[in-house]
Amino acid sequence: MIRLHDTLARAKREFVPADPKRITMYVCGPTVYGRAHIGNARPAVVFDLLRRVLEHAFPEADVIYARNVTDVDDKIIASAEEEDVDTAVITERYERHYLEDMGALGVNPPTIAPHATHEIGPMIAMIETLVARGHAYAAEGHVLFSVPSDPEYGVLSKRDREQMIAGARVEVAPYKRDPADFVLWKPSPDTVVGWDSPWGRGRPGWHIECSAMIRAHLGETIDIHGGGLDLIFPHHENEIAQSRCAHGGAPLARYWVHNGFVDMGAEKMSKSLGNIVTPGELLEAGHKGEVLRLALLSGHYRQPLPWTTSLMAQSKAILDGLYRKAGGAGAGEIDDGVMEALYDDLNTPLALSRLGQIADATTLKATANFLGILLESEKAWFRGGGDGSEVDARIEERNAAKKARDFATADRIRDELKAEGILLEDGPGGTTWRRA
Ligand SMILES: [Zn+2]
Repeated sequence: MIRLHDTLARAKREFVPADPKRITMYVCGPTVYGRAHIGNARPAVVFDLLRRVLEHAFPEADVIYARNVTDVDDKIIASAEEEDVDTAVITERYERHYLEDMGALGVNPPTIAPHATHEIGPMIAMIETLVARGHAYAAEGHVLFSVPSDPEYGVLSKRDREQMIAGARVEVAPYKRDPADFVLWKPSPDTVVGWDSPWGRGRPGWHIECSAMIRAHLGETIDIHGGGLDLIFPHHENEIAQSRCAHGGAPLARYWVHNGFVDMGAEKMSKSLGNIVTPGELLEAGHKGEVLRLALLSGHYRQPLPWTTSLMAQSKAILDGLYRKAGGAGAGEIDDGVMEALYDDLNTPLALSRLGQIADATTLKATANFLGILLESEKAWFRGGGDGSEVDARIEERNAAKKARDFATADRIRDELKAEGILLEDGPGGTTWRRA
């Protein structure tokens, strides 16, 4: 039995899919205008793990995991203007980076990756439905969702009206009937990306894309909707309102799962605060993807995760230990104790502590692989980056020197390699090496 903390219920609930053969999960994906930071990588890793756990718990079911790509947005338009390029140049570049970075962190591609710019039709159709049902109105080229038209608005964030208006940082605009109303569609001048619509040439607001893409790809009501804590309000609150009002009251999601922030010092890591660390720069600096993945899973997903260099060092040391212990073992059975911890609202701290206690190498290997780590061979792991051919060439040189009884040269090569952090081990099968 899987239990998940549901933000809507403010409680852990047993997860029972609506259809045992088809489990649907949607997670709000990246807005592709810059490199993802570690805070953005956390939901990608957490929901990748949740998907694996669902597939393990429901082997008979198709787990359909959709993660969208927001490729039309004011920040994308601003970046494109700054570089004087088409918005597609920006979005394609940063989507590619995102997929590479997440791939290095062991995040498998989602089942479906809908792009906002390919889904304008379904968005316009949903906005038309909302207008027809009296939940939205057109004004000065905009279409706005009428918050007072939805008596259940605020159900997820449980904010009162004053907090909602303050939290949404909504612009006061003359075309709004109510200050809490939010934009579904806005006009685009000729110089900016836009699409024809019943309200003139324009582009969608951010919130409508998720509601429309969920409807188009997964259905009116999905099992799990996920994302970072910062999306609860206003984004997910608005998604709920749009979808429920467009679908005659059907709820958008049966479980709402939110991950906590990654903190830098005492602050949340965020682009606007300028305190970000990106997986891209950490990978380039020689940190391995598995180290970053383990670091991101080391804390419980709902708690804030302080990002420090010692967290990465600890994760590296844990992985070194696990690689030594697993040695060259093949993958056996997945450990029940680890799965039990994961089934309980993805308790990764407990799961990882149990992983460390597994005595059997094949069980350790299989369980670690399930978590997305220990995927390299022990040899490749300790050799670090690169293919090591340069080191092999110098070992050959040393072997030749030894054969020629030139021990001074042989020792010199060994010492030089040691100074570079490469340790040689002479054994009966020849010389092997690893990075210190
Ligand atoms: Zn969303």
